[in-house]
Amino acid sequence: MRFDNQVAIVTGAGRGIGKAIALRLAAEGARIASVSRSEATTQSTADEINATRAEAAKAYAVDVADHSAVQETGAKILANFGRVDILVNNAGVTRDGLSMRMSMEDWDTVIDTNLRGAFSFAQAVMRSMIKQRSGRIINISSIAGLTGNAGQANYAASKAGLIGLTKTLARELASRGITVNAVAPGFIVSDMTDVLNDQIKEAIRAKIPSGKFGEGEDIAAAVAFLAAPEARYITGQVLTVDGGMVM
Ligand code: NAP
Repeated sequence: MRFDNQVAIVTGAGRGIGKAIALRLAAEGARIASVSRSEATTQSTADEINATRAEAAKAYAVDVADHSAVQETGAKILANFGRVDILVNNAGVTRDGLSMRMSMEDWDTVIDTNLRGAFSFAQAVMRSMIKQRSGRIINISSIAGLTGNAGQANYAASKAGLIGLTKTLARELASRGITVNAVAPGFIVSDMTDVLNDQIKEAIRAKIPSGKFGEGEDIAAAVAFLAAPEARYITGQVLTVDGGMVM
């Protein structure tokens, strides 16, 4: 299998897209460090993986916005698994609102989780990847980071920031055998998008050439491709997975 003997960290693996990514990488042989904020969700993902392959996954509960806690978790994962081959920075939140009324608390929460959290986790594993002269870092951005989106100044800025971070890390780490890419999902069915009312959902659907919302597995397939050995010459790229919404 493509990820035999490899270890993948997936943040935000407790639910939605992150869970789909963790299950997919595990199904292809990877051992998984499942990370999310709540103990319950991250543990349930790890349990689901372990039910099919004993001891293939471990759960870690950490707030990715807490830099020192992330460094500790990274060290724990390295101690538990011995190596990290793949880091998927997927944990993310929204706190939508028009810019005129957006609180700085909502701004900070989104930037700190979506952008700072990804940088923190990359820092936590970078040294070991450099030492082993191989690694894959995949950041889950969003089409909102490419186009902007009214009511999502904080979110779009965090996701655009992730693209800048992706390209910079790609340049810094390419000579060490590490690739860094981003996946930009369009509208994917999950708890995050479930909160939108039917009218908004229909307006979005009307803008998708394929006429369908995506599923977590669609993003997981793109992540698995970028994480796989055959993608070794692809770095600093943004792969949009959105049914044609942005092209
Ligand atoms: P989701 O269903 O809301 O799941 C988010 C996951 O992130 C949860 O497991 C959550 O942990 C975790 N998380 C949130 N804040 C965290 C923090 N501070 N520390 C650690 N973990 C944290 O969201 P989703 O739709 O799967 O989205 C996953 C990623 O895809 C996000 O980065 C999102 O921005 C991006 N994305 C989604 C869509 C979409 O249409 N759904 C589109 C574009 C991009 P708990 O389980 O513990 O709460």
